[in-house]
Amino acid sequence: MSTASQPGTPAPGQLTFVAPRRAKPARHLADLTMAERRAAVAELGEKPFRADQLSRHYFERLTADPSLMTDLPAAARDRFAALFPTLLTPVRELTTDGGTTRKTLWRLFDGALVESVLMRYPDRATMCVSSQAGCGMNCPFCATGQAGLTRNMSTAEIVEQVVAGARTLAAGEVPGGPGRVSNVVFMGMGEPLANYRAVVGAVRRLVEPAPGGLGISARGVTVSTVGLVPAIGKLADEGLPVTLALSLHAPDDELRDTLVPINTRWKVAEVLDAAWDYAARTKRRVSIEYALIKDVNDQEWRADLLGKLVRNKLVHVNLIPLNPTPGSKWTASRPEDERAFVRRLQFHGVPVTVRDTRGREIDGACGQLAAAE
Ligand code: SF4
Repeated sequence: MSTASQPGTPAPGQLTFVAPRRAKPARHLADLTMAERRAAVAELGEKPFRADQLSRHYFERLTADPSLMTDLPAAARDRFAALFPTLLTPVRELTTDGGTTRKTLWRLFDGALVESVLMRYPDRATMCVSSQAGCGMNCPFCATGQAGLTRNMSTAEIVEQVVAGARTLAAGEVPGGPGRVSNVVFMGMGEPLANYRAVVGAVRRLVEPAPGGLGISARGVTVSTVGLVPAIGKLADEGLPVTLALSLHAPDDELRDTLVPINTRWKVAEVLDAAWDYAARTKRRVSIEYALIKDVNDQEWRADLLGKLVRNKLVHVNLIPLNPTPGSKWTASRPEDERAFVRRLQFHGVPVTVRDTRGREIDGACGQLAAAE
């Protein structure tokens, strides 16, 4: 884990994921609960019901420009602009898969860079969002991890990525006609549970019906984690039936300690116990994410070990052919090793799929675009 840019000096071997203190992004409507929006509107000298109108504009009509909110008194519109600061500025946009995969590199107010990806399929449209600028988890095969953590993103910065994708879809800019965002996965830059409050706030904005939020089904939202055990327990307490995706990447502590350094704090057994507890309390199937890395974690004996650990649980294993970072020694498994790994898991009766590798040609793995910039 990268600790170089972090405050304080951790004890040797100690892992920490405290974001450095920096200027915060300006407060945005999407940072606030409905009650807080009414209070904010009242602070601006306006009637609280205006908060409902503003929310409808933002979450239903996807408008953040008060000059277009013509049902509001002209004099008030200028004041309301304070609730819609510009949080994300597009730096680059790359498309592939016939225009149905669109990756955007965003610059935040302080110059930090993050990425989001919109992926449209015949039956759904998924936004993959970042939750931190950079990441402090230091997984050695990941471009984002190599750069360390810059800062936590705010709730509204996270939500704005989804709203941007929703605007693109609503405007019919993606082949397939006008559409809506049906799924959101927190699998972009960052460890979502290391930015717990902002991420849970964002999930609440995503799932709350209009005008409070975007009205996306909680079942369509996936929060990934490398396994911050206390935060997994906390998330189960939130009453939000989102899918938990646990990035396991190795079934044994010896290897996982090196691939996912936070494993030195919370071991495989502890992390899986937290995942099963999450599944039991939310009734949601846990997704085990496993990046297949050639000759590192793709041996059949490891597939057997993984199969034994997860069989008979409310689980689904998602194998991800590694999208290699330029210059890295880590690369994707051979196709025959991938097939053998799948077969061993199936032998144990474990539901398994191999994730499609959308966006490979556009530096699809998180952090590659920002690293290139
Ligand atoms: S794989 Fe995920 S948790 Fe690990 S360094 Fe990359 S972004 Fe962070």
